[in-house]
Amino acid sequence: MPKGVGVSAGVGVGPVRKMAAPITEPDPNGQLNGDASAEKARVAAATKAVSEDLQARADKASSLGRDEAAEVLEAQIMMASDPGLVDAAAAKMGEGLSAERAIYESFGTFRDMLAAAGGYMAGRVADLDDIRDRVIAVLTGQPVPGIPESDEPFVLVAEDLAPADTAGIDADIVTAIVTVQGGPTSHTAILARTMGIPAVVAMEGATDVETGTTVLVDGSSGEVTLSPAEEQIERAKAVAAKRAAAAKAATGPGATKDGERISVLANIGGPADVADAQDNGAEGVGLYRTEFLFLDRNDKPGFDEQVRAYQEVADAFPNQKVVVRTLDAGADKPLPFVNNDDEPNPALGVRGLRLAFNHDDVLDEQLRALAQVQSDSHADLWVMAPMVADLNDTKYFHDKATTAGLNTAGIMIEVPSAAITSAHLAKAADFFSIGTNDLTQYAYAADRQIGALARYQSPWQPGVLHLIAQAAQGASVEDKVCGVCGEAAADPVLACVLVGLGVTSLSMSAPAIPMVKAALAGHTLEQCRNAADVALGGATAEDAKEAALAHLPELRELGL
Ligand code: PEP
Ligand code: MG
Repeated sequence: MPKGVGVSAGVGVGPVRKMAAPITEPDPNGQLNGDASAEKARVAAATKAVSEDLQARADKASSLGRDEAAEVLEAQIMMASDPGLVDAAAAKMGEGLSAERAIYESFGTFRDMLAAAGGYMAGRVADLDDIRDRVIAVLTGQPVPGIPESDEPFVLVAEDLAPADTAGIDADIVTAIVTVQGGPTSHTAILARTMGIPAVVAMEGATDVETGTTVLVDGSSGEVTLSPAEEQIERAKAVAAKRAAAAKAATGPGATKDGERISVLANIGGPADVADAQDNGAEGVGLYRTEFLFLDRNDKPGFDEQVRAYQEVADAFPNQKVVVRTLDAGADKPLPFVNNDDEPNPALGVRGLRLAFNHDDVLDEQLRALAQVQSDSHADLWVMAPMVADLNDTKYFHDKATTAGLNTAGIMIEVPSAAITSAHLAKAADFFSIGTNDLTQYAYAADRQIGALARYQSPWQPGVLHLIAQAAQGASVEDKVCGVCGEAAADPVLACVLVGLGVTSLSMSAPAIPMVKAALAGHTLEQCRNAADVALGGATAEDAKEAALAHLPELRELGL
């Protein structure tokens, strides 16, 4: 039975549909094939077909009440129906260029104009590229790139998914996701958990499974069963239902069975994620990934724009904690207006807080925007810096944040050196938040984006557990709180172990919240501590989990 790494719990079943490969740039020397006026008619027909297809999708989106999606599609239809595009392409074909190259170059002219206009217009470049690729796909007879369009539920199989693919995924239609690449902390995993879709990553050969084959995907165990028998599907669904019932029963604030309070918070990427966080019972925000607001942009976010984006989130959580992380650009989250693409090892390069050392204008402006929101909102606003490696980094950030007027400035512990020297860093920071995704990547020297290295990227790896224990210990000596906001916190079994290691709050993708609350409510602090002790003694990630489960009977009962 093929197996990958389960990264988003739940069971999904359905026929396989594959993500079509991206359209490559047409040959710059491609010659016109046949008569120019016939080719012009072909280009006009292709753009019309694309507009009609987009219109059908826009109508469907509005009928389902997805107004935002419908608006984006309507804007794309306007772009695709611009007669200037076909005319510009006809002129290029008149010079002898192939139809697909002519359309590529004509779109290029419009693209440059949009990008140069900056702001909102520049943000539409990706939409324009999408239309261009659709037209080229029609002209060249290739499958339309991106997420397959379907009215019937299906299991999405892809080499990997990029953050920009999110928009095309409909959680009511995509019953599970399986990818060849990606690890437990890759974007695919985070995205799947955010949308509550069961997912398996790092499954070798996934794209070789025939389109249409029915598969059963277990997002917890990582098992993918080809052409499952009806009773296998029923059994898997029954276990999933048992887990869902436990999650549903866990309401109210997070606490262990014996009443030790552990705040259970949400990781968000912007105001659009707030409703989901609230619906799942988040007690606030433990990680606001501010760079997600600015992906796919070529210009720096303005002050007012930032204030609006932070204020909207802060207003949604009056008297609750909202922890905002300053821009974490670079490596897996590149931002064109700050990152340099020529670094040989971007994950080890000038990323996160390090970007501010030479150009602190972006950080200073962000801190000023946050300070304004702190005074204008009723949320308990905390700020923290990503990629802090030593005491200098810690002091640098803390000074800057307090100078800007912020009351509570902490650091993320995601570089092993910071965990090991946490007793020193805790003197200069107001709190810690452990980013287990990067902490694992750096501790095991395993790029979190590379599926072939998924084995190293498990936060159950004993090396990671020891670093977490050290960070929590360093914080407690100085009487500072220490949360976890990496994906480790979303694993109900590991969540109990983290609490046993001394972690005081847990922050995760919203759909994971109910199950984590259930896991805490099912066990005492002592059971969590016992689970943590034996997990620290494990020689491998598997041993650590197995040993911990022996002290967490409620979770073992649920087959987790
Ligand atoms: C982490 O590294 O664990 C983390 C929470 O940050 P991100 O996943 O955004 O890098
Ligand atoms: Mg990180």
